[in-house]
Amino acid sequence: MKFIRFIDNEIKKSGIINENNEINELKYDYLDYNTDLLNIEFEKELNKNKSYKLSDVKVIEPVEASKIVCVGLNYVEHGEELKMELPNEPKLFLKPSTTILGHEEKIDYPSMTKQVDYEGELAIVIGKKCKDIETNNAKDYIFGYTILNDVTARDLQSIDGQWTRAKSFDTFCPIGPIINTKMDPKNQKIKTEVNNIIKQDSNTKNMIFDVYELLSFISKIMTLNSGDIIATGTPKGVGPLNFGDIVEITIEDIGTLRNYI
Ligand code: MG
Repeated sequence: MKFIRFIDNEIKKSGIINENNEINELKYDYLDYNTDLLNIEFEKELNKNKSYKLSDVKVIEPVEASKIVCVGLNYVEHGEELKMELPNEPKLFLKPSTTILGHEEKIDYPSMTKQVDYEGELAIVIGKKCKDIETNNAKDYIFGYTILNDVTARDLQSIDGQWTRAKSFDTFCPIGPIINTKMDPKNQKIKTEVNNIIKQDSNTKNMIFDVYELLSFISKIMTLNSGDIIATGTPKGVGPLNFGDIVEITIEDIGTLRNYI
């Protein structure tokens, strides 16, 4: 199922995209079910008389996370381009939830930096509060998948030697446009384009640690809440964005996340 959140007459709503590519409205915002997204029969929660054309609504971020846990260096070729040694364990950092930005919104170019890079990534959306999960059970805690742009002030990342400032400016985490709850996360084409020129072109099968290994590893460190996001790392081809650029990240079974600089 494909979940979407949107604004209609200034009210936040959510829905499921049907086979005609229209939105069937849910009676409540699915985020209100914050405790356990995996045990809801969403088909029973549809407002039967209400549907919307995708082109008529303003799409907003598909989830409001309590935290965004990011994985650095999770594609072999990206490690090579950064001239960094490949990790034996996932290399983690956090982005604050205040970085989240919706589809078709504008990414800021802060005056503190001179190089803002895109990083196209597959993101896991947690469906149920969890801790200490084994890899073979990880699937049971995933609500679905969306697209994430791990926007990074690359110059500040090397100046600081640690990543918090470079990764944490407001608007530095565009996500969306939808969450797909039924797809194979281990074999998805992932592509980033800037002004229609392809910059990143890979497949999630090239990850060093797959989505289930990542969830398990992270859950042995911190409790993951329903709605939390895990950004699974970016393939090679990262590069700078400039004022006026349009950045688009496409993942086969999710769609295209588009933002403006
Ligand atoms: Mg990244």
